[in-house]
Amino acid sequence: MAGTSPSPPGPEPGPGLVGVLGHAQAQAAVVRALGRGQLHHALVLVGPRGVGKATFARGLGCALLCPQRPGTGCGACPTCQRVLAGNHPDVDWLVPDSKAGLISVDAARACHVRQTHAPYEGRAYLVVVDPADALGEAAGNALLKTIEEPRPGVHFALLTTNLQGVLPTILSRSLPVRLGRLDDAIVGDIVTARAPDAPPERHDMAVLLAEGSAGVALELASDPSLARSLELVKQAITAVRAGPPAIFGGDTHPLWLAWAAATAPIEAVPEDSPAAAEPEPAGAKKKKTAKKAARAGGDAEGGDKAASKKDAPALQRAAVRRLVELWILHVREQLRGRPGLPGLPPPPAVAPGTLVAAITALQRLGARIERMGNVRLMLEQGLLEQSALLAGA
Ligand SMILES: [Zn+2]
Repeated sequence: MAGTSPSPPGPEPGPGLVGVLGHAQAQAAVVRALGRGQLHHALVLVGPRGVGKATFARGLGCALLCPQRPGTGCGACPTCQRVLAGNHPDVDWLVPDSKAGLISVDAARACHVRQTHAPYEGRAYLVVVDPADALGEAAGNALLKTIEEPRPGVHFALLTTNLQGVLPTILSRSLPVRLGRLDDAIVGDIVTARAPDAPPERHDMAVLLAEGSAGVALELASDPSLARSLELVKQAITAVRAGPPAIFGGDTHPLWLAWAAATAPIEAVPEDSPAAAEPEPAGAKKKKTAKKAARAGGDAEGGDKAASKKDAPALQRAAVRRLVELWILHVREQLRGRPGLPGLPPPPAVAPGTLVAAITALQRLGARIERMGNVRLMLEQGLLEQSALLAGA
């Protein structure tokens, strides 16, 4: 982090938050406000996926709680170690229920009750809401009073990729802190440190493709299926240009063959292995039984379909997420007058405005598939939308 650039004029930026790379301005602002005892109690950390919002929240936790270096955190003391490991009693993480995809009302209420006794050990109590978009009306209302009239020492860090996804009642009482894309050099360092076994060419491709998202770069660097993902993007673009007959070309169309490859499990995992699917709460048993019945009763084809259905939602969502990310990167490159990602079709002969609209539509598709059940149907609609945009251009 020493950096070779000359120090900027103006106030000393001071030491940064523990573990946070990049985001110099945001770090300096938070550290400065903490030093003056004027840190806003509810920060909305907003930025693209994978730029380190959760890392920033952990760094904030250290800064709030560390007895060795209050205001920044030391990263080494037992308090900081526990904050960084996610098991400090004065840092609560509110995360979505794996089944409903939303933060439960009970968890939000527990936080509200908890803050009336806060803090347990340290000097502060931090609630990290990850992501803030997963806070529905009911859970949001349970937290609202705490956010409206915070007790001394109670802090919130609400993480989101999109401010519009945060409840307006919560947002209006919070201070947004923007975490932008990271420099490629920082992303490269993070990939080197955390994915040291990635082959050099995959390391470089991952940094290039991730466009400032360390999270995306790490996924790509450790993902041997990158080639299959790029093939899916290629077939999707080709199908979109060919129009609806290609999009609805059936399972043997190159588009859906690429889809099948990109959504297949990387390696065969034993049936019912926990690694085979998203964690399932007890309530999911009914669905499982139905699948088993379908598997037992069907012919060979029905059996295959039922088995593949088991992993389908998680794998399909991951595939569309990747498709959307790569596709957007490709179009962004084209907007900059470059050919786009290697191996993908060259830009269509349309005005830049159409490319921008295509990116917006892709972002909508990415947001939709996180909430909707039928991922393939969402993808088809997204492709139709892209096709319509090109046809109308
Ligand atoms: Zn410390």
